[in-house]
Amino acid sequence: MEEQNEKRGALDWYFKSNLLARILIGLILGAVVGIVLGGFFPNAVAPFVAWTKFFGDLFIRLLKMIVVPVILFSLIAGAASIEPSRLGRVGAKIMSYYLFTSALAVVFGLLFANLLKPGAGFNVVGDAAVKGRLAEAPAISQVLLNIVPTNPIESLAKGDVLPIIFFAVVFGLALSYIKTSNKPELARIGSMLLDVVNASAETIYKMVTGIMQYAPIGVFVLIAQVFAQQGPRAIGPLLMVTVAVYLGLIVHVIVCYGGFLAMWKLGLIRFLKGANEAMVTAFVTRSSSGTLPVTMRCAEENLGVPRSICSFTLPLGATINMDGTAIYLGVCAMFIGNAVGLPLTFNQQAIVVLTATLASIGTAGVPGAGAIMLLMVLESIGLKVTEGSAVAAAYAMILGIDALLDMGRTCVNITGDIAGSAIVAKSEGELDLAKWR
Ligand code: ASP
Repeated sequence: MEEQNEKRGALDWYFKSNLLARILIGLILGAVVGIVLGGFFPNAVAPFVAWTKFFGDLFIRLLKMIVVPVILFSLIAGAASIEPSRLGRVGAKIMSYYLFTSALAVVFGLLFANLLKPGAGFNVVGDAAVKGRLAEAPAISQVLLNIVPTNPIESLAKGDVLPIIFFAVVFGLALSYIKTSNKPELARIGSMLLDVVNASAETIYKMVTGIMQYAPIGVFVLIAQVFAQQGPRAIGPLLMVTVAVYLGLIVHVIVCYGGFLAMWKLGLIRFLKGANEAMVTAFVTRSSSGTLPVTMRCAEENLGVPRSICSFTLPLGATINMDGTAIYLGVCAMFIGNAVGLPLTFNQQAIVVLTATLASIGTAGVPGAGAIMLLMVLESIGLKVTEGSAVAAAYAMILGIDALLDMGRTCVNITGDIAGSAIVAKSEGELDLAKWR
């Protein structure tokens, strides 16, 4: 950020002040403006949203612009610099971590929902509040097959993360063989290509740094919109759901991530300091994949996770590891059961642990995706969202505050990815410990 410090002129104070402080100011101001607007000037909400939409959308688009190049270049660079056997070991470690923490997350969600009993005694009755949206649960074999792209260019164009990961890893591995070939000509062009890929990855990271300068404004607008539209509605019966979800999220971060990090002798506070820019970005954008460029930057620059590891673990995590969503699914299933007068039995809760873990894996890292997967979880315990049913009405209530819940769960989703990446890097003896002092 040295270049920024040399800037002169009207915006000097802006670029000179600490980025995180600016983002937090944007966040708090946005929440205050949103609550005041939504609470006292409801008629002004629609015009406010219309006027500010441009500035919020701009932030999201800037981030999205670099998601695919970030994954592609850093993953090829990462895979080309890691031995194939290690890639397999890192993969196995991170997958076990992701699965275990997601299942634990559902358990935390259920725990707090059992304690707080959101929706109990509520007796929602059906009306045509929401049209039944059908959850389609694709077959596992198809899900696995879809990871292999039939046309990598198409996957890049569509931004399908798993096929891009697959292609980039295979490409990077092939490149690592070329680069170390004993034919000098092959080795030469291999290292040349790797240089180009590395330079591209660095350039993209530079772009991320620049885009983050706009973050405080984007954050302000996005938060103000959410609070203006949904803040007041969360008060009342749904408050308990919100409290249960957020308690679950906080406890998960402290107990699960704090515990895992401590097992590898890493401090939670230092970790959160390093991850906070990504956490705030996830909170306001409500998209794990949109936040990915920032997540990668935090893991590498602030927490010393080498690119060879985080270029693989983080895009994978942004796609399949959704602990926050898992907590949310647990709490909301309980809420809906309670609200329609059919509290979940122990067995049903056990099923929720399984289906919510799987559903969180299948959740796309985009705003609101978790709410769609909730349908699948509900279906698995016999609570069908059909038009006009009480379940549909209770589900509609959840949808009403989804943005508020989505902010917290997305924040935890990416926090879990970074924690897992740091732990795997530490276990591989690759973590830059100087960054943790
Ligand atoms: N918005 C979440 C994410 O991007 C997914 C969800 O809706 O649960 O991580």
